[in-house]
Amino acid sequence: MNGRANNKCATIGMIRHLYIHIPFCARICPYCAFYKDLLDRSQTARFCEALLRDLDQQRAILAISPNTIYFGGGTPTALGISQLEFLLSGFHERLDLSALEEWTIEANPGSVSARKAGLLHKLGVNRISLGVQSWDNALLKILGREHNAEQAEQSFYILREAGFSNVNVDLMFGLPGQTIDQWRKTLEKTISLRPDHISAYCLTYEEDTEFFLRQSRGELKANPDADADFFEMTMSILEDAGYEQYEISNYSRPGFSSVHNRAYWFGKDYLGLGPSAFSTVGLRRWQNVADYRLYADRILLGQSPIGSTENLTNEMKRTERIALSLRTREGFSRTSVQDRHCVAEEFVAIGLLRQSNGNFVLTQKGKSLADSVAEAFL
Ligand code: SF4
Repeated sequence: MNGRANNKCATIGMIRHLYIHIPFCARICPYCAFYKDLLDRSQTARFCEALLRDLDQQRAILAISPNTIYFGGGTPTALGISQLEFLLSGFHERLDLSALEEWTIEANPGSVSARKAGLLHKLGVNRISLGVQSWDNALLKILGREHNAEQAEQSFYILREAGFSNVNVDLMFGLPGQTIDQWRKTLEKTISLRPDHISAYCLTYEEDTEFFLRQSRGELKANPDADADFFEMTMSILEDAGYEQYEISNYSRPGFSSVHNRAYWFGKDYLGLGPSAFSTVGLRRWQNVADYRLYADRILLGQSPIGSTENLTNEMKRTERIALSLRTREGFSRTSVQDRHCVAEEFVAIGLLRQSNGNFVLTQKGKSLADSVAEAFL
């Protein structure tokens, strides 16, 4: 490590959490607001080369020794076996991974094979987040997913057979036309597979998506009352099955909460590589350009991929941390809201917050209104 990096290290500390954005998808889902693009196999090798160069650029500036690495997207498993091998080996060659606790890769059931799963496991990935979304084929069609329920189940078993003992299943509720009975069956089917972690998100109609357009034309309609029922059922069925709700949308078997996501929620620094990826280091936040061709062009020319930066204040970070940690089972500490103490007490009085070990924590009723409670502290 050069002197420059050591100086930075002394000023801002070691980077412990890495996020890598792989933007390729075999198919574009009509509700998705993430930065992604259709898989173009003629571009992926160049893109992987650029990612490793990006890592090299960052290593020249920052001290990096990750506890967690998270490959998200997009669909990281849309990359071919040789590209994944090139990329992951490149991380091994460039980073000290002796402190690594968790290395997650998001996978879509349509792009999981036994060979790919075996390679990922061999190269040190120890957590897979599988984008199942639903076990109902009619709903999967509405969501525009490339896989069906049978493929998703097969992928789950492939991952287990490859040796993954930490698998998350991603699910969505509040889908167009979805009944409470369909959602119950999806939860029960998921539980029967015994994944270690379950994420259950409510569909939101995000701007610049096909679903948003269809909603504005009146073809699709959000139903907050039904969403609240889905959410209540999720908490009750998953908790009865032994999953702990450690964040509003995330449930795990004991010992399997996501170290990487918890780092975000508790305001730790993180470095993002890849197009559109955010980084927050100290009081500086930046985002890379959300265009993978431009990203690769810039990196390969030795230029910065940063598209925008923001200077944060300690106050901004504090309020952000409250809003995020509020969603977790630990909540936020009394000392972090000294100036808004009375606001917190009012929420306690109306039964949305409770006090636990010196922290304010959402009650069961408060979990349904988490966003409104968080807003009061911003
Ligand atoms: S696979 Fe995931 S990232 Fe790709 S379009 Fe669908 S939801 Fe978005």
